[in-house]
Amino acid sequence: MYFCPVKEKLTHPIFQVVSDCAAEMNADAYVIGGWVRDLLLGRECKDIDFVCIGSGIELAERVAKKLGNDSHVNVYKNFGTAQIPYEDYVIEFVGARKESYDRGSRKPVVEDGTLQDDQNRRDFTVNALAISLNKENYGELLDPFGGIKDLDAGILRTPLSPDITYSDDPLRMMRAIRFASQLGFTIEKTSFEAISKNRDRIKIVSKERIADELNKMILSPKPSVGFKFLFDTGLLKLIFPQLALLHGVEFADGKGHKDNFYHTLEVLDNISKSTNDLWLRWAAILHDIAKPQTKRFEEGHGWTFHGHEDRGSRMVPKIFAELKLPLNEKMKYVQKLVFLHLRPIVLAKNEITDSAVRRLLFEAGDDIDDLMMLCDADITSKNPEKVKRYLRNFEIVRIKLKEVEEKDNIRNWQPPITGEVVMKTFNLPPSKTIGIIKDAVREAILDGIIPNEYEKAFQFMIEKGKELGFKKVNG
Ligand code: ATP
Repeated sequence: MYFCPVKEKLTHPIFQVVSDCAAEMNADAYVIGGWVRDLLLGRECKDIDFVCIGSGIELAERVAKKLGNDSHVNVYKNFGTAQIPYEDYVIEFVGARKESYDRGSRKPVVEDGTLQDDQNRRDFTVNALAISLNKENYGELLDPFGGIKDLDAGILRTPLSPDITYSDDPLRMMRAIRFASQLGFTIEKTSFEAISKNRDRIKIVSKERIADELNKMILSPKPSVGFKFLFDTGLLKLIFPQLALLHGVEFADGKGHKDNFYHTLEVLDNISKSTNDLWLRWAAILHDIAKPQTKRFEEGHGWTFHGHEDRGSRMVPKIFAELKLPLNEKMKYVQKLVFLHLRPIVLAKNEITDSAVRRLLFEAGDDIDDLMMLCDADITSKNPEKVKRYLRNFEIVRIKLKEVEEKDNIRNWQPPITGEVVMKTFNLPPSKTIGIIKDAVREAILDGIIPNEYEKAFQFMIEKGKELGFKKVNG
């Protein structure tokens, strides 16, 4: 028997409370799963799972009562589980169980079981670790499958046969890959092979659960680890085929283009060093998504991907819908960044005119800093001189952006001439003409033809109206 070296770390009063309540019930209780794993890894974990050899719901009710009136129990009778939100923790209780699966579903048939049965049903050895809360062996670590050894070695291994484990509940394939990415672990060889073999079983998992795991993986410190496992097991093609399509290099006239899959992963890892924003990370994943569709080999030029930013941004809604990601302003933000991701590069390559900078500020608005971050991350050259040069160029673009912003105040800018003003001035009903005049004024300001001032803009509008045959009536 191995006594948990971190027994003293069961400092939170909740452990004693659970222990006392279980003793009152004459039932054994253990803290189990992710919390134990993270404790041993020194990671913070706010979800604590308790398993009771008896009724998990009764244990939860007793614990809630002891914790005082302000905590309450959410009981999920169908699942035989209960949850107590407590301080900033989510505390879950379950009765020890034995599970058996039917091929058509990832929902098991459940019956009461022993601690050993409950550990058997866990997905990975490192997730099957339990610490006793029983009076006679409080703090004893129960590790029937060598989870500690696997934690030390950084290996994800299933307690029972990997083939059966992944086939029974294919969500575990996504969990394995997500944990590998989050913890920087490898997936043990037979597990990896079982995932590859059972990959088609992913179809019985809901898209929402897959997206959930995918997003957790994307938020890991080095998400490329997870995406490489997804690709190498063949899962990526099934759950996110557009990204898998970026893989590979084509040659023509002896010239190859870069592998856009690995490039994208490098960009994603780069940006993950600077931001924890999920949607900015998604923008990195999708920035080159339309490269396969826009790829051409042009004599004398080599490989080109003209318009991939536009095509890519138009692919975003379908990809979000298929992956069950939110179709809201987050999606629009990703679309915008994909659409604009080449603009700072174009700016840096050419002479930087005020009007080009104004246009970019106008289009990017408050997302300009995120866009610049994406552009920095997009530099994946292996030539340090080139990297330095590109970064310096972007620095110049940033300085110019700041200058123009201070001068013209164009970020979050609303053009001074609204449709209302146009209609009133020329006494026109709502029509296409209003948009034409309004847009002409906006373009003139962005191009620097007229300054960003109401009077000058109004004058320009009168001229434009005249050109189109309208006379000023009011104003
Ligand atoms: P995280 O909180 O990062 O998701 P976790 O390991 O705590 O990590 P939970 O989903 O909270 O994950 O699950 C708690 C425990 O329940 C896991 O540690 C594992 O023992 C078990 N578990 C969860 N999902 C499964 C599954 N699909 N198959 C087998 N065991 C699972």
